[in-house]
Amino acid sequence: MKSGDVDVDEDWTLLDADFVEIRDLQFEHKTFRSKPSLRRRESHDGWIQETEYNGQPYDEAEFELIPNQWDHQHCSLCFAIIKDGLTYWANKDEVTILCDRCFTHYEDRIHAQKERESKPS
Ligand SMILES: [Zn+2]
Repeated sequence: MKSGDVDVDEDWTLLDADFVEIRDLQFEHKTFRSKPSLRRRESHDGWIQETEYNGQPYDEAEFELIPNQWDHQHCSLCFAIIKDGLTYWANKDEVTILCDRCFTHYEDRIHAQKERESKPS
């Protein structure tokens, strides 16, 4: 199923400013699946740090691994929620995540930009 809220009338001019900041346009289409998170065992100033777990090494004394806790992402542009089973687009190391709606909107510009970059200067 596609991600991104098609019922929202997006003001794309606001998102354009963020779009032009994206450096890596090598997007891959993926399907989001819930994954574990790492939760710090001790809170700091009343808030507990939590981060998505992608197999990185961690200190068990400091962090607790919680299965399926990381259950959604947000589109980097419109902040649409991308949940389990929804498709989305991500560049390397998922620095930027786009919902299907935003990717479709910017698709032509992404291709044009990639073409420009692939030409020898
Ligand atoms: Zn979006």
